[in-house]
Amino acid sequence: MKNLKFDLDNFINPDEIVSYEDCLKCRKCCIFPKSIPGGAPIITKSEFKSISLAEEQRLKVNGLGENTFQFVLISDNDFLKCPFLKKSSYQCEIYGRHPFDCRIFPFMLVRRTNKSGVYLSYDKTCLAIVRIKNLPVFINYCQELLNLFSTRKARVFFKKYPELILNERNLGKYKLGYVGMLSWDNC
Ligand code: SF4
Ligand code: SF4
Repeated sequence: MKNLKFDLDNFINPDEIVSYEDCLKCRKCCIFPKSIPGGAPIITKSEFKSISLAEEQRLKVNGLGENTFQFVLISDNDFLKCPFLKKSSYQCEIYGRHPFDCRIFPFMLVRRTNKSGVYLSYDKTCLAIVRIKNLPVFINYCQELLNLFSTRKARVFFKKYPELILNERNLGKYKLGYVGMLSWDNC
């Protein structure tokens, strides 16, 4: 398996788990039903600086935290869509520089209602998860991801960008599966 040793700033899901082809057919990450609010991508200040001036002019954001913004989505019939989703081809126009929040999907870090700690979770309705072909590879990947997000480096990263840890009560759009709780106690 490739890409398991990721740099948090450059993390991309390995093709074995989420193929770009699956994403092109789905795009649930980039299109949002108006009836279920929330879920717009979060972009860090450092990621925002890495997009070009032309892209920046197309992207409207709302301040979210000290070091994060949230995309303002564009209305498109019954849906809201990311301003970087090319409607004709369903391609992400900033692929490779898309925010960490997009790149880790279908995984996400979640604070659960009535439970302490931060959990690594995933969206069970993600097309790539539904179509998972090799369950042992997926389980192994989940464990590796849990270990990586449990590191001191990850803890520092998420301390800088706490808004990247989502609240379960705001995730009605997803059907969450839980991998496990991050062990940040020793960091
Ligand atoms: S939901 Fe899954 S398959 Fe669909 S675009 Fe997102 S990561 Fe890709
Ligand atoms: S930045 Fe790219 S991957 Fe992220 S929501 Fe927009 S189109 Fe989708």
